[in-house]
Amino acid sequence: MMNDFRQHVYFVLATVLVTAVATYLLGGTLVMLVSLDALLFAWLIGYWVHLGKLAQWLESPKLRNVPTGIGIWEHVFKTLMQQAKSRKKRKQKLGMALQRFNNAAEAMPNGVVILGKDGRVQWLNTLAAKHLHLDITIDANGILPNLIRAPEFHHLLGIPLTEPVSIKLAMSDQSGLPQTLNVIRAPFEDQADLLITQDITAAEQLNVMRTAFVANVSHELRTPLTVINGFLETMADMPDLPQAQQQQFITLMRKEGERMHQLLADLLTLSRLESHESEAVHHEPLCLSALVRQLLQEAQSLSKQQHEWHSDIADDVWVEGVQLDLYNALSNLVFNAVRYTQAGGHITVSLSGNLAVQSPQAIFSVRDTGPGIAPEHIPHLTERFYRVDPSRSRQSGGTGLGLAITKHALAEHKGVLRIESEVGVGSVFTALLPQIPPPIDEGVSEARPPASVLP
Ligand code: ADP
Repeated sequence: MMNDFRQHVYFVLATVLVTAVATYLLGGTLVMLVSLDALLFAWLIGYWVHLGKLAQWLESPKLRNVPTGIGIWEHVFKTLMQQAKSRKKRKQKLGMALQRFNNAAEAMPNGVVILGKDGRVQWLNTLAAKHLHLDITIDANGILPNLIRAPEFHHLLGIPLTEPVSIKLAMSDQSGLPQTLNVIRAPFEDQADLLITQDITAAEQLNVMRTAFVANVSHELRTPLTVINGFLETMADMPDLPQAQQQQFITLMRKEGERMHQLLADLLTLSRLESHESEAVHHEPLCLSALVRQLLQEAQSLSKQQHEWHSDIADDVWVEGVQLDLYNALSNLVFNAVRYTQAGGHITVSLSGNLAVQSPQAIFSVRDTGPGIAPEHIPHLTERFYRVDPSRSRQSGGTGLGLAITKHALAEHKGVLRIESEVGVGSVFTALLPQIPPPIDEGVSEARPPASVLP
C-alpha cells in the first residue's frame, strides 16, 4: 500500500511537472498557470467523488458493496475489500465456534447456568431451563433467587465459594411427579459462577428401593431366625424336655430353616434374572408343551389329590428361551394355584398356540377357583415381597418373590403376565410368550424341565 502511495505521489508530481513545462513552452506563464489550475481542479473533483464513494460504503460496510476507483483509490478500495473479506471469514469462524459451543452445551447431559454474582442468569442451556422450570427466553436474564424459592437453593447461592459445593433439591417435574436434582455451584469467573444441574431422580429411587429391599430381606430372615433361636434357647434351658416336645420343636425349626432356604433360593433366582438383563444369554428352542405337562404332574403331586384338575395342553407349542427361567416363571403360577386354592377347588391348566397369525403367541394359563384377589392388590402382586395376606402366604411357605420372578423371567423372553381375578370366584394367571415353529432339525431334543425341587 505504501509503495502504491509513493508511486502515485511520484506520478502526480511528474504529471504536474510535465504539464507545467509543456504548457509554459507552448503558451507562456499564463497558459501554464491556467492548465495547472484545470489539472488540479480535475484531481480535486476526482478525490471528492472517491471520498463520497468511501463515505457511502462506510455507512454500510458490506463486502459486496466495496466501491471501485481509479489511481490510488483503486488500491485503497482493494485493501478495504481484503480487510472486509478477512473480517467476514473471522466472523464466520467465530460464529461456527459459538455454534459448536452451543451444540456442545445442548448435548451435555447436565443443565448449565452461568449465574452473575448479582444472581442474574447470564446464560443457560435447555436442560437447565427444564430442570429448574425456567422459560429459556423469558427467564434468560432473570434473577434466579426470585425464580426458585426453595430455601436450600437460596442457602446454596449464599455460600462463599472456594471450591464446588452441591445440594440435593427436591422438585417436581413437568408432569408433577417428584424429581430430585443435584445442583452444583462452582467458581467460574470473577463476576459469575457456574450452576450445574443433574437429574438424579432414578438413582434416588433406586436407593430407596435398595434400602427397602434390604429391610425386607432382613425382616424375612429375622422371623425364622427368631423362631429357631427361641426353640434352641428353650431346649438349652430345659434339657429334660419330653422327647415328643423336643421332636415337635425340631420339626418346627426345620420348617423355618426350609423357609430361609427357599427365600435365599428365590433371591438368587431374581438376581440371576436381573443379571441376564445386562448380559446376552443364549436362548434355544424349547418345547413348551413338554414343560407344561411335566409341571402339571409336579403340581398334581403337590396338591395331594385335594383339588379337581383339568387340563388342555396343545402339542408341539415351541418357544425360544432359557429352560430354567421358563420353568421358574410358569411353575410359580401353577404352585400358587395349589397353595391358595382351598381343598375341593378346581384348577385348570391350559396351553395353546397359533402359528397361522402374524405374531404367533404361546398362551399358558392357570385358572383356579381359589379365594380370588381384590382389584387394588392386582397391580402390586409382581412387586417383591408383596403379599395380599402375609400370614397365609408365610404359612403356605411363600416368600413373596414368586410373581416377581415370573414377571422378570417372562420379560427376559419378551413375554408378559396377565392377572385377572375376582374375590370369591377365583383367579386366572396368563403368560404370553412369542411362539416359534417346531424346529425341523430332528436333533433338537424336547425340553425337559430341570430336576427341580417342589416348593
Ligand atoms: P408368595 O410367595 O407369597 O406366594 P407370590 O409373589 O407368588 O408370593 O404371590 C404374591 C401374592 O399374590 C401372594 O402372597 C398371594 O397373596 C397372591 N396370590 C398369588 N397367586 C394367587 C392365587 N392363585 N390365588 C390367590 N392369591 C394369589
